[in-house]
Amino acid sequence: MGILEVRDVNKNFGGLKALNKVELDVEEGSVHAIIGPNGAGKSTFLNCLVGLLVPDSGEVNFNGQSLLGIKPHEINQAGVSRVFQTPEIFADLSLIDNVIIPTFAARDGAFSFSAWKRVDNDKEVRDKAEHMLEDIGLIEKRDVIAGSLSRGDKRRLELAMCLVQKPKLLLLDEPTAGMSRADTNNTIELLKSIGGRGITKVIIEHDMHVVFSLADKVSVMAQGTVIAEGTPEGIKGDPRVQEAYLGG
Ligand code: ADP
Ligand code: MG
Repeated sequence: MGILEVRDVNKNFGGLKALNKVELDVEEGSVHAIIGPNGAGKSTFLNCLVGLLVPDSGEVNFNGQSLLGIKPHEINQAGVSRVFQTPEIFADLSLIDNVIIPTFAARDGAFSFSAWKRVDNDKEVRDKAEHMLEDIGLIEKRDVIAGSLSRGDKRRLELAMCLVQKPKLLLLDEPTAGMSRADTNNTIELLKSIGGRGITKVIIEHDMHVVFSLADKVSVMAQGTVIAEGTPEGIKGDPRVQEAYLGG
């Protein structure tokens, strides 16, 4: 069954057609990779899915609900969570506080700074946040300031901040960009292990090793549109895909 259905989505920046009639169907529980050369419109597309950008036209249906015209936090509450191309964490706070904030927000709908006092005595939220850090393998760094983490650990932390909200759909924009091979392999294992939690994933990825390790299906974008779709094996030899990369 399709959990995400995208129909004829268009987005212009001035005279530039950043998205041109984008169509996408994502199966529930699958890992769906989006690949394509720089400037293909991949990040713009994810921004449209989470409400940071509003498409000029088209339809986005998630779990039977239209996401168009809905605010980012409402899309998040509907079960869509997003990992950014550059990790979005609270660099000056400890790891545990970084995870407490989205844990609290997921339960109460929002987090404000006046909530800090209540969080101190909120065993449910603190326990959930600690379990999440355990799950993701960062519990021994619970009191470390997030800004001092390695790039790979920052990504893990950001993933923990998304997962603690129990999303139905997780969107990842180049989760292994700039990582060492070892951190990339750790991330692959991490993403595989969270597959069992029934989370559908859409992943933008440059690294074909990651795509081949994780993806059930691949959509190839070039110049703002989906030019080919198939299994990782199926798209590998597709001449349209090779041309998009050579031409891009
Ligand atoms: P990708 O993630 O596939 O590399 P992007 O979605 O970032 O591609 O960009 C697609 C195109 O849209 C590029 O030509 C980029 O320069 C342009 N673009 C992206 N965001 C903006 C913006 N906010 N304003 C104007 N042009 C943009
Ligand atoms: Mg991008």
